[in-house]
Amino acid sequence: MSTANGAETETDHASKPSGLKELKICGWDISSCESHILESQCSQRVECTEDDKLCSFCLYNRKLDLPHIPEMVFPENLLRLEHESGLGIEFNALDALRRVDSGKMTVEIACAEEWKASRSDQPHIEQKAKPFDWTFTTDYKGTLLGELNAVPSNINIDMEVLKKREQILFYSDVTLFEDELHDNGTAVLSVKIRVMPTGLFVLMRFFLRVDGVLVRINDTRLYHEFGTSHLIREFTSREGDIKEMKIPTALMVDPNQFYESVPIKATSCEMLKLPSASAKPELIIDTVASSIQTTATMK
Ligand SMILES: [Zn+2]
Repeated sequence: MSTANGAETETDHASKPSGLKELKICGWDISSCESHILESQCSQRVECTEDDKLCSFCLYNRKLDLPHIPEMVFPENLLRLEHESGLGIEFNALDALRRVDSGKMTVEIACAEEWKASRSDQPHIEQKAKPFDWTFTTDYKGTLLGELNAVPSNINIDMEVLKKREQILFYSDVTLFEDELHDNGTAVLSVKIRVMPTGLFVLMRFFLRVDGVLVRINDTRLYHEFGTSHLIREFTSREGDIKEMKIPTALMVDPNQFYESVPIKATSCEMLKLPSASAKPELIIDTVASSIQTTATMK
């Protein structure tokens, strides 16, 4: 936030985001941030030139090889998990959009043709079917920090463990980008986290709905049990034909209502290894209690 006495000299990067939340637990520093939408033009009087001092607008326009970016991009929004070893993982919009296909068209062409056919009464549709992935589909699974590596694994997340009733020490739900596809559906990427006394669970979801055509759901789930030295990361890509799935239109706005009935197209499971086990939860009860208060006041 800028100060009352005027802070014109401050750059966007220098202003403190107001929606910052943080929790320190078991050797982890967990933070999430919710802030403003990306500006529609350069924030500097003279357009940014130096690469290391780009405003968010110039950063997104120069670092992404896309003719258009989503209508709503939240450049400061993020979720970051940093382990005391310096390793960690972060979820941000820029890295997610880097993985949107900017040239090669495969599945997307078929989808665009179907979309055009379903909107043949709209003469301006040709202009919309641009030679890039206008659905902003991304298979982003987070940005690894430090030397953290992901190796293929056959150990899945035990979803039964996550169904246990536990106290929620920290919760955050952050939107990274969103686009309404010129009123033809929705494409949204968001990431949620919940931290419990026994561990943490992240769900990042890319949800695409092209009205009358298809739904696509790319989910990344991340789980860490405190006291262990690894995280499990699962990726699931689902896609279904809206006409075939026969899901009531009213339910189509909320993927939680139907995602399990959308056919799975691809899955992968990985392990992210830490150099040592994180602290066991029973050792940090006092820390947790004080962290909860900190979180509440920082909201
Ligand atoms: Zn700029």
